[in-house]
Amino acid sequence: MIISMRQHATKEEIDHVCERIRDFGYRVHSIDGEERVVIGVVGTGDVTACLESLEATPGVERAVRISAPYKFVSREFKKEHSAIRVNGLEVGGAEFIVMAGPCSVESEKQIMETAEAVAEAGARMLRGGAFKPRTSPYDFQGLELEGLKLLRKAKEATGLGIITEIMSDRDVDLVAEYTDCMQVGARNMQNFALLKSLGSCGRPVLLKRGLSSTIKELLMSAEYVVAHGNSEVILCERGIRTFETATRNTCDIAAVPVLNELTHLPVVLDPSHATGKRSLVPALARAGVAIGADGLIVEVHPCPEKAVSDGAQSLTPAGFRQMMRDMAPYIRLWKEARAQSSTLAVAAL
Ligand code: PEP
Ligand code: MN
Repeated sequence: MIISMRQHATKEEIDHVCERIRDFGYRVHSIDGEERVVIGVVGTGDVTACLESLEATPGVERAVRISAPYKFVSREFKKEHSAIRVNGLEVGGAEFIVMAGPCSVESEKQIMETAEAVAEAGARMLRGGAFKPRTSPYDFQGLELEGLKLLRKAKEATGLGIITEIMSDRDVDLVAEYTDCMQVGARNMQNFALLKSLGSCGRPVLLKRGLSSTIKELLMSAEYVVAHGNSEVILCERGIRTFETATRNTCDIAAVPVLNELTHLPVVLDPSHATGKRSLVPALARAGVAIGADGLIVEVHPCPEKAVSDGAQSLTPAGFRQMMRDMAPYIRLWKEARAQSSTLAVAAL
């Protein structure tokens, strides 16, 4: 159950509602939003009686029964698709947002060249890891602070919003200072200390699906961030681990419409990690547009054969330009469908 308080509900009214909830044997999890307080009701008890009683309690605007274990992120809680603001853009809004850039920030020349190329080709955000989660401790671990500073420089030069990975709760303030969107990588999807600390980071979060995580687990992780105070969460399908070896991961393309049914949060697709192969990226990117994703996050490197990470799946700037050109008619249809749908443009394509 979720209780939305009226906009100007008093502290006494809020305390009274919490007291009533506890009287019914439930626990309270309240979130102080900018406009109103929303109270999550957790536990088991007599739902109908509690709901009826709360609906009639002063200060309550709406009491909603939510059957899913994830409450705040569920469609039951919010019917309209959420648009998340990032550096003046809206992910989940009227525009299809392409985020592009190298896997890792490697040097000033590399990130500036990439930023300029992807901006010119139509990307709206620049991606690039400064803290890298590598399978081997001997592989490049990222430029860390220097990488963050280079991302800032690329933003100043191009106006592109920045998205970069955060790996540890210890680095949240540092990364938040430099980036517009905090990326939680697949390997950290269930780093609960990190998820909790992102609740108060003051930046939107892009949460990638874990390597072997179910959609429900992804949504529970998103719920962590929201329940700790940050409702600005974007989800990302980036492929999962299966028996198939032809691709680096198996893209669960159906996860996009499944998520669109289950949650109001925007969903972007990462065709780079989902395939691991440059030649497959454009086709999957088009599929992402057609199936109703809100955007893409794509790896691009000025010289992929020299990349310190993920070169095989990185597009060249020319390849990225071509992909964007080929995607344009799909994006036009996407926009028309999105404009016609008050909740979501999925099926119309
Ligand atoms: C990345 O975006 O470079 C990355 C490490 O992705 P993932 O967490 O999806 O593996
Ligand atoms: Mn990568």
